[in-house]
Amino acid sequence: MKLAIASDHGGVELKSALVNALANIAEVEDLGPSDKTSCDYSDYAVKVAMKVSSGAAEFGILICRSGIGMSMCANRFQNVRAALCSTTEAATLTRQHNGANVLCLGADTVSVEYAVEIAKAFLATPVDEDERHARRRWKLERAQRFSDASGLMRDDPEVFAAIEAQTIQEDTEINLIASENTSSRACREATGSVLMNKYAEGYPGKRWYSGCLPVDAAEELARKRACELFGADHANVQPHCGSAANMAVYFATIKPGDTILSMSLDQGGHLSHGSPVNFSGKIYNIVPYTVNPETETLDYDQIEKLAMEVKPKILLTGASAYPRTIDFKRIREICDKAGCIMLVDMAHIAGLVAGGAHPSPVPYADFVTTTTHKTLGGPRGGMVLCKDQWAKALDSAVFPGMQGGPLENIIAAKAVVFREWMLPEKKGYAQQVVKNCQVMCKTVQDRGYRIVSGGTDNHLFLVDVKKTKGITGKEAAAALDAAGIVVNKNTIPYDTESPFKTSGIRVGTASVTTRGMKEAEMIKIGTWIADVLDNIADTSVQERVKREAKELVAKFPVP
Ligand SMILES: *Cc1c(COP(=O)(O)O)cnc(C)c1O
Repeated sequence: MKLAIASDHGGVELKSALVNALANIAEVEDLGPSDKTSCDYSDYAVKVAMKVSSGAAEFGILICRSGIGMSMCANRFQNVRAALCSTTEAATLTRQHNGANVLCLGADTVSVEYAVEIAKAFLATPVDEDERHARRRWKLERAQRFSDASGLMRDDPEVFAAIEAQTIQEDTEINLIASENTSSRACREATGSVLMNKYAEGYPGKRWYSGCLPVDAAEELARKRACELFGADHANVQPHCGSAANMAVYFATIKPGDTILSMSLDQGGHLSHGSPVNFSGKIYNIVPYTVNPETETLDYDQIEKLAMEVKPKILLTGASAYPRTIDFKRIREICDKAGCIMLVDMAHIAGLVAGGAHPSPVPYADFVTTTTHKTLGGPRGGMVLCKDQWAKALDSAVFPGMQGGPLENIIAAKAVVFREWMLPEKKGYAQQVVKNCQVMCKTVQDRGYRIVSGGTDNHLFLVDVKKTKGITGKEAAAALDAAGIVVNKNTIPYDTESPFKTSGIRVGTASVTTRGMKEAEMIKIGTWIADVLDNIADTSVQERVKREAKELVAKFPVP
């Protein structure tokens, strides 16, 4: 058992006595001070708290005259539960109930002999795993979700109100927006870190500013982990968003006026794939492909025919609203035949690819672009993966081609998330997202709703509410929103409604799966969706579902 111990000048004597008395119980690391020269207790509390917070030590002991300042300081660290004890009873109880891991002692309030007894009781008592105590310990940790932005409560209450509202929204609603997920605490820590203070134009080792060693380390980790996670030759982690990632590939490879063959927006493609209102549609000659009107799935023969006709410079696959597996091998064959660059935009499915629940485009594509915040669950941002031969052109397209300084805090958060994907606890997540999606989709389908393409292979499905109920996607999304279920209206292939109204809704399961929901919950949610849409004008149904949904999500807290 590793034990870190420290004091201020007022606790040096008691500390020495404890170091000796505990030497045969624990592996004691004395973090100072070594004499009675006046010092500041917080400096020493931080040393011990960092050891315990990081897991380098299992326990800590902190001593000052009262023990109070030490406990206040240590408790500011995550994973630290510091308890000021003046009796052996208190030490035993705080271990059992609170799972305290740092013992604070007041040198003025306990004798040396009794302090040794307190410490021995503290170290010998196991944490009580009883449900009641476990729940309370969990709520204690959970308080951090509300304290995270608590500095703003005083400094900027207006901005704090927005953060608080989002926190409550996440806690109480069922989020089925297919392009969203729920980030980990670690990801948010990196996002809010001091790395945001640094200008770092250029790339690790080749920056235009001094002082870039810390951000170089973070960016190098992000690049390395991205390549490892996806099996890519090269990664550029600087694009600020998914659209910028696509822009970088266009800038690296083709000229204004060149032809891109891509899926049109109203069929499931993305704005940055050539929509006339987007830069991509204004700069390049876009030839759109569509899905097969019967099957509503990609028609590879049609794509091949078009590719041979128009000879695009880039064939772009990947979508924002396509519920089926994409055959990247087939797309590669088409690209080889037509002599064009293969670009896959896996923004939506990147998490499924990372987790092995969708075939990877990386072995086939010249470039793979992605966002890092959709199924991947990381910070809002973009990334490009490419084959070695394109690395230089890609990097210069991003900087100095289209961006200035990269967002190194976001890049660090990308690194955090890439590592999370390689951890054992992430195993099975991507498969569960797909399983959940299929179960919810089937539940809605069994209630008579027409599902675009008849089902789903990935994290999202599209419901044709117009055909089924004669309502628009806009009306459906509004009714569901009133019932605490958040989806978005979405065009479906060959939609007859305007993009503002649409005939469909898009439903995704990444976020609810992150919260730990499984098949049983998907059946409940699918049933609620059908209940609300069956009774679109009945607000009592919406109220009932909202109540039940709130009860359900309370059992599945967001990270
Ligand atoms: C979401 C998305 C993007 C880009 O997203 P940003 O909002 O620019 O980060 C790009 N491509 C596809 C297919 C997407 O779904």
